[in-house]
Amino acid sequence: MDQLPIPRSIQLLSSELTDQIAAGEVVERPASVVKELVENALDAGATRISVEIERGGQGLIRITDNGSGIAADELPLALTRHATSKIATFHDLLNVASFGFRGEALASVGSVSRLRLVSRAERHEAAAIAAEHGRLGEVEPAALASGTIIEVRDLFANVPARLKFLKSLGTEAKRCQDAVSRMALSRLDVGFVFKAEGRTLFRFPPDQPLSSRLAAFWPPAICEGLLPFDRARDGRRIHGLAGSPQKAQGRADRMLFFVNGRAVQDRVLSSAAREAYKGRLLAREYPQVVAFLELPPEEVDVNVHPAKMEVRFREEQSVFLLVRQTLQDALEATGPALYADAGRAPGEAGTAAAPPPRWRPAPTPAQLGLVQPRSSRAYGDSQAEDDTFFPQPKFPAYREYTRQVAEEPSAEAPSRPFSDAGREPSAATQEARPPSIGDMRYLGQIADTYLLLGLPDGTLGILDQHAAHERILYAAMHRRGRSGQSMPLALPVEMHLHEAQAEKLAELGDELAALGFGLERPSHGLVRITSTPSSLTAGAARDYIEAALDGQATSLEDLWVLMSCKTALKAGQPLAQDEALRLIEAWRAVPDRYYCPHGRPALVRLGAGELERLFKRR
Ligand code: ADP
Ligand code: MG
Repeated sequence: MDQLPIPRSIQLLSSELTDQIAAGEVVERPASVVKELVENALDAGATRISVEIERGGQGLIRITDNGSGIAADELPLALTRHATSKIATFHDLLNVASFGFRGEALASVGSVSRLRLVSRAERHEAAAIAAEHGRLGEVEPAALASGTIIEVRDLFANVPARLKFLKSLGTEAKRCQDAVSRMALSRLDVGFVFKAEGRTLFRFPPDQPLSSRLAAFWPPAICEGLLPFDRARDGRRIHGLAGSPQKAQGRADRMLFFVNGRAVQDRVLSSAAREAYKGRLLAREYPQVVAFLELPPEEVDVNVHPAKMEVRFREEQSVFLLVRQTLQDALEATGPALYADAGRAPGEAGTAAAPPPRWRPAPTPAQLGLVQPRSSRAYGDSQAEDDTFFPQPKFPAYREYTRQVAEEPSAEAPSRPFSDAGREPSAATQEARPPSIGDMRYLGQIADTYLLLGLPDGTLGILDQHAAHERILYAAMHRRGRSGQSMPLALPVEMHLHEAQAEKLAELGDELAALGFGLERPSHGLVRITSTPSSLTAGAARDYIEAALDGQATSLEDLWVLMSCKTALKAGQPLAQDEALRLIEAWRAVPDRYYCPHGRPALVRLGAGELERLFKRR
């Protein structure tokens, strides 16, 4: 061991120095000062709070409130560390209802700035006190009708090391604004004003709905589609607003969580939200959620972080499940804002009776000369015959198969749109109604890729056949779990692996086996495929392994997604009507059907409103 440094004698640190050390924990940047001071105002029962900053908060932070104020003789105590009016016993600490309780914010701020505090408590005269880098001045008489004004100037001017860690003035100003916004969202009963560099950036009157305040921060497109949720269970409650997955964006800063009114950043909560949105978002998108959790105080420890941004839950798992389930239900209940019956699993609680179909018989596409159905067999509400839609082994030959069907010479051969407009409609087509699948009608395929559906609410649905089939295959794999059907290859396929692939194979070996792959490793850089999932040919299996080893897949679930993508029908494949109907029927039965497993939409809906806009009727 190296030589120990010569010990100095042990000394108590000066109070100025201990304050500065403590300040480092509570007061990291201007936004943390803003947060602490606004929380103090809220603790004092203020109903109007104004925050002004200059030079990103480094020049000046001024907080004005109409709260209970501080009595003149208590002003020095307010600026002394570990002096608080909010808790007195350890029991209080476990049941804090106020934001503050550590009694160190004001002292800390006062030690790293020039601070002036003017306050007036009821039945007291107004008084002021100043602190300059931790040195308290005298209490002096002042003029103020009620409440408190705190001015913090030249923050960190005496601690250059802290200054160096600050970002640009603009960034720090933005953080101050975010801090106030978050509190404004959690305290709708309180009016807030925020000014920076002399400009008013927001002004909220007291008692506004959450959505009005949110509208000041989030784009209108997101705010229009917000889904409310509110659920109480076992003494816990969660409520708030969730953004529609369709409006999701690639920014992670719109997941706002509050626990017992406190803004927190918490991994349990954000992962619960991401789980709830899973399958509805693209990889780069994030949920947009404002959620308020109300928990019995003894179930949350808020004292794990000096700035109280983190909390610890005693029942982490229950909190996680409550958040995930509530959000999932909120998203399901409205579907992708597309179609009323959403992706609820049958028999799930809360399933409302389906609204009566508002379908009016209309001329078929064939009658309009758009598409000619090959058969008019109607599909009832019967169970999907095969939950994987097309029997899997058919897949590789599928293209051949459909082409053959398409080219079959027949009286009902598909006509090109409008190509034979002059043709007399036959009696059969005149009588034909669009075939129905449950409460939907199948109107035909366009661009060999999209299936047109008449939906029961009278809107037009456009189903992406690839996305829909992916979802069906994915659901089937999910249901079957790890036991993939396996087929031995007559001739094993060998693949050379580069280093990264070899490592990935070591990582994913068990999962690939669970999918139905038989893999041998004669050497580190070589893999031999001896059997494959029954849905893949040897060539497709090779492609699949390559994609899995080169890609982002890290779990069996990822491999399912990849598998469903590789084996699903592609865009550009003409479908016979029977095939389309079977696809739609199978798709109707799977969960999360409105999105493919990557999170792209499977169904797009055009309602009267969209059509009116498209036709410029309004
Ligand atoms: P804490 O909030 O943890 O108690 P602070 O250092 O933030 O500690 O504040 C110390 C005390 O000063 C508080 O307990 C409160 O009594 C008083 N105080 C601070 N700010 C205000 C305010 N805006 N209005 C009324 N009292 C305040
Ligand atoms: Mg405080």
